[in-house]
Amino acid sequence: MIAGGGLAGHRIAFALQHEADVTLIDPKNFFEVPMAVPRMLVEPDRAREAVIPFADFLPKVALIRGSFQSFRPGFVRTDSGEVPFDYLVIATGAGYSGELIKASGGTAGERSSGLREWAERIRLANHVLIVGGGPVGVEVAGEILEDLPGKRLTLAHRGDALLPGLTPGPQRYALELLRKRGAEVRLGTDVLCEADVVLWCTGSSGGAGRIAVDAHLRVSGAENVFAVGDVTSLPEPKMGLWAGKHAAVVIQNLRRLVRGVSVKAVYHPATDSKTMLVTLGRRHGTGHLPFGDFTNSWFARQVKSRDMFIGRYRKGVGL
Ligand SMILES: Cc1cc2nc3c(=O)[nH]c(=O)nc-3n(C[C@H](O)[C@H](O)[C@H](O)COP(=O)(O)OP(=O)(O)OC[C@H]3O[C@@H](n4cnc5c(N)ncnc54)[C@H](O)[C@@H]3O)c2cc1C
Repeated sequence: MIAGGGLAGHRIAFALQHEADVTLIDPKNFFEVPMAVPRMLVEPDRAREAVIPFADFLPKVALIRGSFQSFRPGFVRTDSGEVPFDYLVIATGAGYSGELIKASGGTAGERSSGLREWAERIRLANHVLIVGGGPVGVEVAGEILEDLPGKRLTLAHRGDALLPGLTPGPQRYALELLRKRGAEVRLGTDVLCEADVVLWCTGSSGGAGRIAVDAHLRVSGAENVFAVGDVTSLPEPKMGLWAGKHAAVVIQNLRRLVRGVSVKAVYHPATDSKTMLVTLGRRHGTGHLPFGDFTNSWFARQVKSRDMFIGRYRKGVGL
């Protein structure tokens, strides 16, 4: 039983669907590549590839459209009753500041048309206000400035520097590039201005980091229950990069348990990691990797800016 088919959960369901009876419960009927959201706000057609119905890649998985609520030994409680399980993975992620950036329910069709409507509103607006200068706000700004040159765009950020958690070099680079392209970037402010469209990019809301896990990513005190991704209280930045690695560890451990041997794979949290790759439109980007800071556009383009990881995630589920 997997609760949540997001970045970590969809991967576990895909990997195990031919080896075990897998059930996935999620209030949505699709997986969305989260990294593609900023691009879809200017190019909503990309939703055809980035918003992927579970049924397209999980043919062997029993899909329940609903919400996981809690568990007791052998059973999960959902909004439509109890469902039995042998092993449970909790992968319900963290909420986000708004439905636009992260849908909390609905179908792939509804999500795609919602993104199309927002893209149209952004295209028609005289003045767009982005609230929040973390990676999502900066990437959304980068997309709009590149695709809709001349649009009045204000980015309001509460902190003194964009991209909190990143190193100073890329923080400055992003600020300078956005300003050079015409954005009005206001730092250290809670004061918002009038705009035709307001895009809330203020990050995770409630829920992040609730569940304590052991080194094998089992929920403390429950031998047959795992938790992965943003819902865990692991001391590391809440990122898809790490959620994917959690998934890989749990896939290995579940394979062993299904074979009747005990868990072995261990996860080492990326505590203090500054790793981040932030796009600034289709051709630019900046960030920090284990080898250091980079502002190399060629590199950013090759790795992320060109397709925002859509191809990588589709390939990961055989599409
Ligand atoms: C716009 C955007 C861009 C991002 N870009 C990057 C990036 O470039 N690099 C990076 O490393 N990270 C990035 N992230 C962060 C990354 O997306 C998250 O860290 C990652 O998705 C966490 O994975 P997860 O599986 O824990 O949760 P999620 O991917 O959020 O998935 C949670 C799933 O659980 C479902 N769910 C929620 N509640 C319930 C419930 N009660 N019952 C059942 N199902 C439920 C949800 O519908 C969802 O499908 C980005 C995030 C956003 C929003």
